[in-house]
Amino acid sequence: MTENGKWSSVQATELYGVDSWGAGYFSISEKGEVAVHPDGPGGASVSLMDVARGIQERGFDLPVLVRLSDILDARIKQLHESFSKAITEYNYRGCYRGVYPIKVNQQQQVVEEICVFGAHYHHGLEAGSKAELIAAMSFLQDPEAYLICNGYKDEEFIDLGLYALKMGIRCVFVIEMPSELDLVLDRSRVLGVKPILGIRMKLSTQASGHWTESGGERSVFGLNTAQVIDVVDRLRKENMLDCLKLLHYHLGSQIPNIRDIREAVKEGCRIYTGLVEEGAAMGVLNLGGGLAVDYDGSHTNFTSSCNYTTAEYCSALVEEVMSILDETGVPHPDIITESGRATVAYYSILLFNVLDISRFETHTLPEKMPEDSHELLTNLMEAYKALTAKNLQECYHDAIYYRDEIHELFKRGGITLRDRALAGQIYWHILTRIASLIRGMRYVPDEFEHLASALADVYYCNFSLFQSLPDSWAIDQLFPILPIHRLNEKPTQEGILADITCDCDGKIDRFIDLRDVRRTLPLHALKDNEDYVLGVFLVGAYQETLGDLHNLLGDTNVVSVRIDADGQVHYAREIEGDSVADVLTYVEYEPKEMVRRVREMAENAVKVGRMSAKDRRAVMDAYESGLRGYTYFEREN
Ligand SMILES: *Cc1c(COP(=O)(O)O)cnc(C)c1O
Repeated sequence: MTENGKWSSVQATELYGVDSWGAGYFSISEKGEVAVHPDGPGGASVSLMDVARGIQERGFDLPVLVRLSDILDARIKQLHESFSKAITEYNYRGCYRGVYPIKVNQQQQVVEEICVFGAHYHHGLEAGSKAELIAAMSFLQDPEAYLICNGYKDEEFIDLGLYALKMGIRCVFVIEMPSELDLVLDRSRVLGVKPILGIRMKLSTQASGHWTESGGERSVFGLNTAQVIDVVDRLRKENMLDCLKLLHYHLGSQIPNIRDIREAVKEGCRIYTGLVEEGAAMGVLNLGGGLAVDYDGSHTNFTSSCNYTTAEYCSALVEEVMSILDETGVPHPDIITESGRATVAYYSILLFNVLDISRFETHTLPEKMPEDSHELLTNLMEAYKALTAKNLQECYHDAIYYRDEIHELFKRGGITLRDRALAGQIYWHILTRIASLIRGMRYVPDEFEHLASALADVYYCNFSLFQSLPDSWAIDQLFPILPIHRLNEKPTQEGILADITCDCDGKIDRFIDLRDVRRTLPLHALKDNEDYVLGVFLVGAYQETLGDLHNLLGDTNVVSVRIDADGQVHYAREIEGDSVADVLTYVEYEPKEMVRRVREMAENAVKVGRMSAKDRRAVMDAYESGLRGYTYFEREN
């Protein structure tokens, strides 16, 4: 307990739900800082704030994306060990092989680390395009791991995959469209390689969730049952049914409900059995992605959550596959999952500093209304004075009525600018009072639902939502967000976050909550001369390459850290974020030419005597150093 009333890291842990969503990797230390411990609460632990300080001391400004490689290592281990446990428990006779879908986070460092950490388990890769296959071929060299090729395949794609096969890589072509088969058969003949084929099936099973459009019968990917039969017939005619080894489906990403996952496996296993009965070699069942991340920690079937653990997921898959195949007498296949989100989400954290706060209610109301105040103003003031918990809806309606009348009156020239400003102040005082009254109420009338965020402080933060958290903007995805220090001080403010894009969509006003969605985030007041650093957690999946250059804010700095057994931090890799010149080049500017043009303008100014030659030098120094600089807010050195 601190002198700040009864507030300590215990209360902060509960307030921000760290134990619920942190999966054992994060906690709050007694010092009031977020601690990271990749091997669980008992293992080596470091303070995220110390990591942030270390990064800044090494010359990298915030915002920065921190990758905790040891968490990635732990995730891969957990996935494989959970499957291995389920396989032993049920006495399942196939094995598990994970593959990582590159599209989830395509950064070289991520793919490279997955291949290193996954080597022990023969963890493979999934490529959905030619570029991803080309990336995969340079990092995956394990003959026992799978390289799964999904997506639309042209001749070049197929040739590359066949060459991989020639070199001893288990490269599987998953047929997604009927037209692909001919091309694969043709190129295989030309290159003299026998392909390994799979089929992607459209399931009739539908799951609920944000991304499930990619599964189900309406999905654009995969074959329907009639097309599957066509493929089988074609292969039989070519005497190549022994090449057909894999069945794949993908229900969609972030499937929150385990029941949907079980239903899909049942359907998938029936199709698998059918293919075996048709005479296909088979042997591998690829159940796609969908393993969800419990972003809000509620452990429910809400879209930002899931009602199962990784262990329960693995156990459910093994159990369902086994029960259907044993019933039909078909040998147990090897199981593949393409778990992307659950593999990489936990390992990246976005850190940024708060630049400023804009706060409500900066003026106190006058003791007495001015003598000649208009009647509408005195009425508004009376509504404020009469406000209690019992009549708040009535007062609220009065306040809105008087405010609107006053605006009308102002438009007709009936009151002064000063009167209107006073009316605005009274109105907001009423709303603020209502907000504090409803905070203690069990039932809150619907019309006040958005009041909290309308009155919240706005924390201006040094990042771009569009670049770093695209899913927060595009699909209202929730992420855990909290300050990474000062957590032994009671947060006194309620805020929403605005980024520096000056776009009205560049804000976060929905936060995780165990029961619902919070409209504001508890935060601290700023201290002079001290950074206030917030962390957005679980951002490793899908956020990095979907990001765009809104307002020309570019990639952030990225720093990878490793944590020793004795809690020592290693700054393993640093990737400098985009400079202003970099992002301008992306949109086809030519920095050299730009410098030339500005120099010309400066020289003209010197020529006509507007400034000195020395001024010209200062202008050019500022312009050129701006081009070299970070696209985000930089502190002065
Ligand atoms: C996107 C995708 C995945 C990854 O799904 P997660 O839910 O992130 O694990 C797997 N397979 C296919 C075919 C995909 O398109």
